[in-house]
Amino acid sequence: MKILKFGGTSLKTPERVEHVVQLISAEHPCGVVVSAFGGVTDQLIQLTDFAASGNDYSTNVQSLFDRHNETVNSLGFMSKWDYLTQAITDIQSELTENLKAIAQARIVTPKLKDAVLSTGERLSANIITAACVEHGLEADFLDARDVILTDDHFGNAFVHYQESYNRIRANWRDRSRTRIITGFIGATENGETTTFGRSGSDYTASIFGAALNVEEIEIWTDVNGILNADPSVVSDAQTIPHITYEEAMELAHAGAKVIFPPTMIPALYKSIPIRIKNTFHPENPGTLITQSRTLDDQYAVGISSLYNIALIRFQGAGMVGKYGMIGRVFEKLAEKKINIILVSQVFSEHSICFAIKPDEVESAKTLLHKEFSFELENRFIDSIQIEDNLSLIAVVGEGMRHTPGIAGQLFGILGNEKVNLIAIAQGSSERNISFIVNEQDVKPAIRILHSSLFSGPDKLNIFIAGTGLVGTDLIRLISHNEKLNICGISNNKKMVLDKRGINLAAYQDELKNGQEADLDAFITIAKNTPNAVFVDVTSSSAVAEKTAELITNKVSVVTASKLANSMEQDYYDTIREKSKTTTAQFLYEANVGAGLPIIETLQTLLKTGDTVIKIEGVMSGTLSYLFNEFDNSVPFSELVKDARKQGFTEPDPRDDLNGIDVARKILILARETGARLELADVTVESLIPEDISPDLSISDFLEDLSKYNHLFSKKLEEARKLEKVLRYIASWDGGKAEVSLKAVGEENPFFHQYGAENIIVFTTKRYHDVPMVIKGHGAGAEVTAAAVLGNILKCEK
Ligand code: ADP
Ligand code: ASP
Ligand code: MG
Repeated sequence: MKILKFGGTSLKTPERVEHVVQLISAEHPCGVVVSAFGGVTDQLIQLTDFAASGNDYSTNVQSLFDRHNETVNSLGFMSKWDYLTQAITDIQSELTENLKAIAQARIVTPKLKDAVLSTGERLSANIITAACVEHGLEADFLDARDVILTDDHFGNAFVHYQESYNRIRANWRDRSRTRIITGFIGATENGETTTFGRSGSDYTASIFGAALNVEEIEIWTDVNGILNADPSVVSDAQTIPHITYEEAMELAHAGAKVIFPPTMIPALYKSIPIRIKNTFHPENPGTLITQSRTLDDQYAVGISSLYNIALIRFQGAGMVGKYGMIGRVFEKLAEKKINIILVSQVFSEHSICFAIKPDEVESAKTLLHKEFSFELENRFIDSIQIEDNLSLIAVVGEGMRHTPGIAGQLFGILGNEKVNLIAIAQGSSERNISFIVNEQDVKPAIRILHSSLFSGPDKLNIFIAGTGLVGTDLIRLISHNEKLNICGISNNKKMVLDKRGINLAAYQDELKNGQEADLDAFITIAKNTPNAVFVDVTSSSAVAEKTAELITNKVSVVTASKLANSMEQDYYDTIREKSKTTTAQFLYEANVGAGLPIIETLQTLLKTGDTVIKIEGVMSGTLSYLFNEFDNSVPFSELVKDARKQGFTEPDPRDDLNGIDVARKILILARETGARLELADVTVESLIPEDISPDLSISDFLEDLSKYNHLFSKKLEEARKLEKVLRYIASWDGGKAEVSLKAVGEENPFFHQYGAENIIVFTTKRYHDVPMVIKGHGAGAEVTAAAVLGNILKCEK
């Protein structure tokens, strides 16, 4: 047999009641605990306040009963339920009597309040019993006051378990019939009605479950079980599939409203599993609560929060080493039934603070001032301060007991989000770490904790400037990566923006029909997007000039363009300075050697304390190719034309031949070592004969170049005579940067070089006799795009 409990959220409308009857019939015979219909308990509380303040409550009483009678009518009972009508009428007159008593006394005593509050559960249990019988079930109504014995703490009654269990068992000899039981209420020895506290129906279910040793207690509500955060704060809170009684209790105590904390106690003693299920999605397995569970690699299971709490802070040198202070505080507050939510004491004992509900602040303050008047007068205690508008956040999980460093990690997450922690406490069970934060910080704090603990890092939002060969390849590569979200693509004509992610299958069409490109607007959107990475795959200096601004605004920049790093030294320095002040990164591996790990290797050498003596390299894939192919069988100018046709050169081959591109690369490497120099300081041997006019068109230039073929042939022949080959080499020796065409012999690392290969040689203090050589295919859109993607992935936090 099972005990099912249906909460107010499952009983808001006649249709829902009908649906609940279906669920009950699937488990018949069973025990069913019901709450008041949704919202009814709140209305009853309002009625008591009305009565106490002398207002006319009769219309409100009427509308409350109208609602119940309408439900009865719309359930469309075939049988005439005289018994039900009578029961409802009796409950109504009893309620009216109690409200009258409150109105006369002008005060809501806890006893009368409980009597009034019992109305909701008694009405709903009666109606649902009738509905079940109507449905053909053998079902009886059971008023829990007949069996659950409590003390007389009205509003928060303690249950005498053993006697209650005996009475329940005695009452439930015939297990072939279903019982519909009033949740939330019990009675004292004298038969006075008591309640267990708001949401107490869950507890009733657990008491019956334990008494009858049922196979499972099911709490049916309006969410898919216990979620790892309050769904009204975190929209993608996930169901916790399996949780221990202790974990559930910690979460519930710290505010997870879905289950009333004491519910776990009777079930725990009898090891009866509790399952939380969704009335609206019965197929969902919900959350299972048991004694233990296998720990997965997540140390936390959930985050809870209690809003609106106040903190009382005792401070004073006179407290140091004095025992009994905390005891006195607790005792005084307990006398007035003031509940302490959290306590935190500094190790020096110089200050202690504890959290309570704000409506208890005034009486707590008065009590404590009285109790500690001697200490205050004599300045053992400097002050008793009260801070309010605070909230508590608790991170709960069995796995925290076995994992060191959790608190530090959680504080780090909150610190990065600039959340100020007002007090911190870790439960001695180590299952719970709680913080007090300002009310306005609580939601952002929960969201960042949730996303860090349970959602993994958020997706990176990518903005790509440039849709040339590299840009196109990059977009293709990104389309296979689920963690990346391209929010913006722009070229120099058009741009598309979509923060949910651009459809990469159709982006080219979207771009064609997109809005006019506007670099500033594009950048403004990147700046306003969290986790943004701006990718520069243009050769535009207007884009490169935005690097510092982007980084200052927390947007990481990944660039294949060499411009930002090879502009004036001042700009280079500004980018580095800005990088230090934010978490945004500036990454540019593709600047030298395309996909080869040149920059990263150099940075690692330097970071680990090595000193660079010399950097040399063949750093242009195009020029490598030209001098590898050049054997005088074809004139040099023809070779250039051919290479251009095959797409191995820049559209204008002079951009390769003038050596500036290579000069930028050696400048970037030299600056990486800490040297300060400008592009103009690099000595460049251009391969464009000086006499050729710079104003020629590309084709005229290529024609003109043929007049100088003999110069190249001559250089080659001279080299050959010495058994050497021609290589276009960039070098930095710690003082001078140079780019020139050289003849190198067999002993030189650049001698054996093939195709569009790049070779970079680092001679350092550590790599002295045998320098470090990095070589490989160093040109082309695909490897460059891959290097850019590698850098983008490094921006994940
Ligand atoms: P019932 O009327 O069924 O007893 P409650 O309103 O008492 O339902 O509890 C369910 C509600 O608890 C959910 O609708 C949800 O908004 C809220 N809630 C707060 N924190 C959590 C959590 N961690 N997991 C699930 N629900 C939560
Ligand atoms: N009806 C009561 C309340 O609203 C008890 C419950 O729903 O569990 O607090
Ligand atoms: Mg509830």
